[in-house]
Amino acid sequence: MENIKQKIDELRKTLRYHSDRYYNDDAPEIEDYEYDMMMRELKELEEKYPQYDAVDSPTKRVGGKADNSFESVEHTVRMESLQDAFSKEEIFDFDRRVKESVSDVHYVVEPKIDGLSVSLEYVNGEFVRGSTRGDGNVGEDVSGNLRVIHNIPLKLNVAVPFIEVRGEVYMPKKSFERVVDRQLINDEKPFKNPRNAAAGSLRQKDSRVAAERGLDIFVFNIQQIEGATLNSHKESLDYLKKLGFNTIPYYERVDDIQTAFSKVEEIGERRGSLEFDIDGAVIKVDDFAQREILGSTAKFPKWAVAFKYPPEEKQTKIIDIEITV
Ligand code: NAD
Repeated sequence: MENIKQKIDELRKTLRYHSDRYYNDDAPEIEDYEYDMMMRELKELEEKYPQYDAVDSPTKRVGGKADNSFESVEHTVRMESLQDAFSKEEIFDFDRRVKESVSDVHYVVEPKIDGLSVSLEYVNGEFVRGSTRGDGNVGEDVSGNLRVIHNIPLKLNVAVPFIEVRGEVYMPKKSFERVVDRQLINDEKPFKNPRNAAAGSLRQKDSRVAAERGLDIFVFNIQQIEGATLNSHKESLDYLKKLGFNTIPYYERVDDIQTAFSKVEEIGERRGSLEFDIDGAVIKVDDFAQREILGSTAKFPKWAVAFKYPPEEKQTKIIDIEITV
């Protein structure tokens, strides 16, 4: 048992270290897949040995923190993470868990953009503040850097009294190539991937630097709204489009989990040809009343699951080997 406790402590320490590199330094040292597998091992050990469970374990916390460089923003609606799945079986398990609480379920399937999550607030249709996710409860006010992203409307098409939306800021592949080329010419350390480049750019003190980096956004959720009643996710995504937001592309409402999984596979097939990085696809319960019944854990909503695609680099290696053989 002492060995188990030691293993759990080690995993927590390693995960905290890499979480810090990833979220706070924008400079990961290991692949996401490796991180996810360690997280999974820790989760399994904590479930098997509940006597060693802890409320501050990385399995219970949303990664990231707000440092002192920007004003802090307390999120009225928590910015949660997502539970992940790596196989079809896990997706069907998710469906079974959902149906233990609700029936006649419809899902919406969307690509999971590999960027960083932000909240945007509008009063009477005007942009007033934007912030990072931080630890889910408190983020950083990065309004200045968000204002320079062309696809973030500063004025909405409809002057709703109040709306807070959530989206993913990302760096398109083309912008990433341009930024890295420039970094290499200037003898600077290049960003490792578009996700880290986007995160680093959004936390620049000088908005002109952020403006040059060519960031973009996809909005995928209404966190809160006054002045309109919406009953489902699909309805809210359609509404966001009407307001003028660049909404998450390729979203689709489906009637069962098998079709949802086929959509996940279809999005996966498009992955290489997209202008932006995705690391998975998200399946979400469509109906808001059903979401309310399903609720959340300390870290993620029980009404959604993220299917994570295998790392692209590993796929390339397999192809290399096949060619060599
Ligand atoms: P996550 O990235 O797995 O999922 C949650 C996030 O997905 C949300 O915050 C949201 O912003 C984003 N998202 C994108 N598209 C979305 C959509 N259509 N609908 C809903 N959400 C959408 O979880 P996380 O807690 O943000 O980050 C954990 C991930 O970060 C891990 O899976 C790991 O791969 C990576 N990570 C890597 C390292 C490393 O060292 N390589 C360290 C820490 C974390």
